[in-house]
Amino acid sequence: MPDYQSLLRELPAVDRLLREPQMEEKMRSLPRRLLLQAAQETISSYRRIINDIKRQDDPHGISNQLDLSPAALAGEAVCLAEKKAGLNLRPLINASGVVIHTNLGRVPLASTAVEAMADIAQGYNNLEFSLESGERGSRQEHLETLLCDLTGAEAAVVLNNNAAAVFLALNTVAAGREVVVSRGQLVEIGGSFRIPEIMAASGARLVEVGTTNKTYLRDYEAVVNENTAAFLKVHTSNYHMVGFTSEVSTTDMVVLSREKKLPLIEDLGSGVLLDPVRYNLPSEPRIQDSVAAGADLITFSGDKMLGGPQAGIIVGRKDLVSLIRSNQLARALRIDKCTVAGLEATLRLYLDEDRAVKEIPVWNMLTVDLEILRRRADNLADSFSGLFGRGSVELVEGISKVGGGAFPTAQLPTCLVMVRPVEDNFSTPELVKKLRQGNPPVILRLQQDSLIFDTRTIMEGQEEVLIEAVRRAYLQKS
Ligand SMILES: *Cc1c(COP(=O)(O)O)cnc(C)c1O
Repeated sequence: MPDYQSLLRELPAVDRLLREPQMEEKMRSLPRRLLLQAAQETISSYRRIINDIKRQDDPHGISNQLDLSPAALAGEAVCLAEKKAGLNLRPLINASGVVIHTNLGRVPLASTAVEAMADIAQGYNNLEFSLESGERGSRQEHLETLLCDLTGAEAAVVLNNNAAAVFLALNTVAAGREVVVSRGQLVEIGGSFRIPEIMAASGARLVEVGTTNKTYLRDYEAVVNENTAAFLKVHTSNYHMVGFTSEVSTTDMVVLSREKKLPLIEDLGSGVLLDPVRYNLPSEPRIQDSVAAGADLITFSGDKMLGGPQAGIIVGRKDLVSLIRSNQLARALRIDKCTVAGLEATLRLYLDEDRAVKEIPVWNMLTVDLEILRRRADNLADSFSGLFGRGSVELVEGISKVGGGAFPTAQLPTCLVMVRPVEDNFSTPELVKKLRQGNPPVILRLQQDSLIFDTRTIMEGQEEVLIEAVRRAYLQKS
């Protein structure tokens, strides 16, 4: 039986590890406190291992294989310290084919937006200063004219995100009063945005009308009383009802809201400015269509189909937008200078539709030719064949998803690279984990026992890095 006490005594002290040459060498480039923490954690982890095998009486004979020398532990501590020194938030390769991926930062930005953001971040700027008059200005002015121009609205205000936009619109227009919503539109978007909850938080009282699948104009009309403050129409962006259903159109709701002299608020969610049907995507209401139909306030995200930075945009009636801007909470929900810069640059691309489709990554990825995807997949498959062997790699037809709660029914035909190593003892989940934990991390689909790469969401210039990352992960695990 191994002598666990002497194993524990053999563990070097923290000071001893810090005096190892590799640790001293690293002291020059990394903060001492990171190396100290790493040394402590490495020693603790070995103490745990020894105590664990002691408890089970070392069935696998691990105690004979432990290298507890200061040099070995210092080596591990240096690796750990390097990991701690790296940034937590870092770029990765999205090979999943999900274009708007909320967990992966939603959408990549157009390069003009990236440049504008970096430019503004680096120095001073006229965020709230009018260069015309030399007086104090508003950060909203940089965006309002463009937004009105693109959507046909009278006024616009931009907040932190669309949840904030819906919240502030309701709080401004309806706090302490009633807002009428169809039961079929009481949706949940992502983890924590649910219409009933956001409504309660805003101080407005929810009045549900109709049924899950059918709501008529007369249902809205029947509940209006002196406490009614507004009608709310929510775009059910992330799910789709088929069959025996009916929803009241924006046009019809405008007729009722004008008759009752109550504002109609429309939460459009994804923020579509181009006609998706032109690009073989399912039909979706555009912002400008709701403006033209006469909705009083329209809210949408900056970082879904719009393809810009995280923001929540409200366009609509001047008097209502101006009330929203002067709400005390507006400051708590305001956007920062980098967002203003990135959003302005993104919106400017929409002044020329062809340029928007070419340069805004979300539109570019959604409209890319299948032939191009096939060619990219072919190249990738070639490189992978060299690594895994020809019999393990195959091109297959498949489907990419728009994601982000936009176009839930869209099936984008794509060409996938499917890797299914034929060798014995090969663990695909193990390789997926290695890829996820690599540098850069690679996110892909795992289907049964195959790795699935969709080149639709792999950015230009990332192919080589991806191939190298896969090579490293594969060699590491075998
Ligand atoms: C996505 C979405 C939201 C939330 O928008 P964020 O910008 O993520 O806050 C709200 N409403 C609808 C209909 C949405 O699709």
